[in-house]
Amino acid sequence: MYEDGWIPTICYQCKAECAILARVENGVVKEVKGNPQGRDKACVKGMAGITSLYSSERLKFPMKRVGERGSGKFERISWEEAMGIMEKKLTELHERGEAHKFTYSMFPHSVTDPKWRFVNAAGGFISTGLPHCDSGKIMAMMHTFGCFPNHHIAPMYHTVPKGGLMILSGRHPFGCLDDAAVPKYILDAKERGAKLIVIDPIFRPEAAKADWWIPIKPGGDASLFLGVCHYLLTNDLYDKEFCDKWVREGDMDNLMAYIQDKTPEAMSKICDVPAADIIKLAKMAAEAPSACIDAFKSIMYGNAMDWGHAWCLFLVITGNLDNPGGQPLPEIAPMAPVEPVPPAPDVTELGYHRSGNNREKFDNYNFFLQPTWYAAQAIKDGTLKVFFASECNPALSEMGSGEWRKAVTMKDDNDDYMLELLVVTEIMPSETMKWADLVLPDQTNFERWELLYMPWWYNFGHCAALCQPVVEPIGEARHANRVFIELGQRMFPEYFAFKDDVEYYDIELSGVDMSVKELQENGGIWSPGAVGFRKYEDKGKFDTPSGKIELEWQMYKDIGQDWPSPELPQEYRRGEKDFPFILVNFRTIFLNNTGAWSQNNAQLRDPVSGLDANPCLLNPIDAKKLGVADGDTVTMESSTGSVEIPVMLTERIIPGCAGIIHGFGQTVGKVASRGSWVNDNELIADAGSTLDEQDLRGGEAHVSTRVKIYK
Ligand code: SF4
Repeated sequence: MYEDGWIPTICYQCKAECAILARVENGVVKEVKGNPQGRDKACVKGMAGITSLYSSERLKFPMKRVGERGSGKFERISWEEAMGIMEKKLTELHERGEAHKFTYSMFPHSVTDPKWRFVNAAGGFISTGLPHCDSGKIMAMMHTFGCFPNHHIAPMYHTVPKGGLMILSGRHPFGCLDDAAVPKYILDAKERGAKLIVIDPIFRPEAAKADWWIPIKPGGDASLFLGVCHYLLTNDLYDKEFCDKWVREGDMDNLMAYIQDKTPEAMSKICDVPAADIIKLAKMAAEAPSACIDAFKSIMYGNAMDWGHAWCLFLVITGNLDNPGGQPLPEIAPMAPVEPVPPAPDVTELGYHRSGNNREKFDNYNFFLQPTWYAAQAIKDGTLKVFFASECNPALSEMGSGEWRKAVTMKDDNDDYMLELLVVTEIMPSETMKWADLVLPDQTNFERWELLYMPWWYNFGHCAALCQPVVEPIGEARHANRVFIELGQRMFPEYFAFKDDVEYYDIELSGVDMSVKELQENGGIWSPGAVGFRKYEDKGKFDTPSGKIELEWQMYKDIGQDWPSPELPQEYRRGEKDFPFILVNFRTIFLNNTGAWSQNNAQLRDPVSGLDANPCLLNPIDAKKLGVADGDTVTMESSTGSVEIPVMLTERIIPGCAGIIHGFGQTVGKVASRGSWVNDNELIADAGSTLDEQDLRGGEAHVSTRVKIYK
């Protein structure tokens, strides 16, 4: 059944999901490289996917818990028994009128991901399978331009013209979790004469390649860009023609009034970037033929919506929407729906996470994927009873992970777990699996079928690609999509009236006159070709209520959020005396961070070929004050928890910040549990516990906390 040779499929060592070719020899994957019909790139993590596939720690059979939750004791069971356990519990929940107390934490691979379909049919919620990175940006763009941005993939770097500005703000495309082609596109654009500006408290590989590194206080991005906007607007350096034509009547006047006191000098005091540099950046943006911003970490602070809003203001007044080198507006592949489509839950009515005091205000900040990180609070409230997880690791990789672990072991007066069923699908042992009642062995990308078209993701916004099995699956591993199609056929046959996953993808592909077989023959990729620029000109409008760009968010007026606040997130403004350092966590090319499989990859966690340490980066100026030497082990403590960690002194981090890598600290798995490397999420508060504040900023304090450091 499986052929030898270079077979097209998709990488899944991180969620960028690059199109790759796998070289198969005698039924064994030997090598991986980028698919030239895609973007022709694979990164070091992608190549190490083979190590995951053949790891001796692959989970091969379904298992159920035999000890207490968290004891990690399991026994092998059959697939039939595993399916029966899930069916019984979900049926019980439904009969109790509590179907909505079920959530599935996952990373959906398309808007019609079969797992998501199952959740809707079951009356539950999908929640994001990873810390909900940049919904602040998504919501900001939806409010301002009326469209769902192509998520992480801000600019199309291959379109940046000579002299165009590429601004990375807390974004590490050379580091991790990215389309492997992006670094090359950025460097190619530089070769053409584009300028790379990196705004970051840590000097990382992007900064080393930049024309200009701007060190900034974490959380200061909104104030920096408001200062830039002030200069552009008050010096008549903005794109007046664009704004006159496309911005809603009255918004520019109101923006002018609002921006008056956001001078570069005033904003400099917040973000610690000199006023002269704010003015320099504004002048560069005014002179450049294009400017784009790409941000990631900086949109995960507790002022995400403010930063997203300021970012949108900058794009609009510089006229950088859907132009070469600017912010692309999406075009979604027209896949066919698989009828009948199960209805989605009413999140406003049923949302389990909306338990803060400011619930009504928070309802303004709605999002169709519910953030997993309220799960701990929802379990305690009794509003979450069944939790399924795929391709995510909440016991380790979400903020307040300790709170999550505590919540899943809480019991009621009858000595029953408050969370009644916890199911995890996994490729290799993970921290979250340790707490599960049921562990289902999943397949790697070399063993499974999957259709990828994701309007919100790097690679497949405008096209679709096929992940296909290139070798026999290991043991009894089954892909989660197939499992939940089968469970759907048992429980909700009206919504699962198709044979299997391949037939499901065939129906979807009929929307573009394709089939799985044809896609295979086509090298695994479907693309409509170029989608063009300035699509709003053809349409004659934006998809906002007014048909124009809406700079002022009138729906937020009553909570004082109609314009962005320049202030730092609350998490950085309080407790400065007791916790003088801002924690900055970051990513590396060697870890996917959220998915357990790459944490446990021997090739990536190796001092020679990968990375096997995450010391705390500290500026020598701070170290001197603390009396700490390079290599010393220190205690790092926040209001939430504390960890022991060695320090590495470097001038690459600005004074006042402490940097550690996100994604370490697993206690299970031969490779992942090696060493004493710490989990940053032990220090960060569970987001649900600070919901009241986040209600008001509409933000997401994924990574925001202050710490103290002592020997
Ligand atoms: S960027 Fe991610 S998906 Fe792409 S090759 Fe690297 S690990 Fe694979």
